[in-house]
Amino acid sequence: MLGHEAFPIKFSSDDNHGLTVGKYTLDAGGVLNLAKCIFVRIALFGGTFDPVHYGHLRLAEEAREAAGLERVLFVPAHMSPFRQQEPLSESRHRLLMTRLAVADNPAFEASDIEIQRGGVSYTVDTVTTLRALYPDDELFLILGADALQGFSNWYRAAAIAHECILLVGVRPHYDLQAAMGHLPDEIRPRVQPVPMTPLDISASDIRQRIRAGRSIRYLTPPHVIEYIQQHRLYLEP
Ligand code: ATP
Repeated sequence: MLGHEAFPIKFSSDDNHGLTVGKYTLDAGGVLNLAKCIFVRIALFGGTFDPVHYGHLRLAEEAREAAGLERVLFVPAHMSPFRQQEPLSESRHRLLMTRLAVADNPAFEASDIEIQRGGVSYTVDTVTTLRALYPDDELFLILGADALQGFSNWYRAAAIAHECILLVGVRPHYDLQAAMGHLPDEIRPRVQPVPMTPLDISASDIRQRIRAGRSIRYLTPPHVIEYIQQHRLYLEP
């Protein structure tokens, strides 16, 4: 598991009251203080999810497994900072489709945090909110390899990486080292690669197929397809 690399257990003396072992506290006398060692590994997975698809779900599942995550929060952006000119489907549709897609995975959840906040969805604001809600938990951010390439241009990228380990889904033959080379020194050590089954699925391809009257079966879960059909989404360019 990545956790061992991400959080190497270190012994350090903690004045005269006991030992700190990673995040675990041993009281004087060597008794493990359970009250101080219950923490959860939570990942934020942001995107436009227009619509959510199996590429997203598989990345989140492989990241969950690799990093021992207890929760993955899928957070549809209200407005992506990089796609402000592109029309997106209504937020409620993107949120509901994401909810349908994650419903059968107890570790997954769709959050409306960015939609409720409105405006441009900066990940650093979401991370700040999550840190306030979960002050003692381990925070992660899930990214596709393509997103890592532009990560240093994200608003307050270093602050995000300070709070979150970056779980980056990498494909075979993907040149992670080259992408890492573009990252500032303080961000690079925060990257944890997650080897990922390549699924060449994208939301833009799904939208194009729908416009062309083609099948999207097996690209996204059946409930999402039903929702798209019921609400007649993506028929217009
Ligand atoms: P679009 O085609 O509209 O650009 P998208 O399919 O790339 O959308 P986003 O919502 O923009 O989906 O992506 C959210 C995150 O999921 C990004 O970090 C992106 O790198 C990652 N991602 C998207 N599709 C895949 C995929 N097939 N495999 C792995 N990661 C993916």
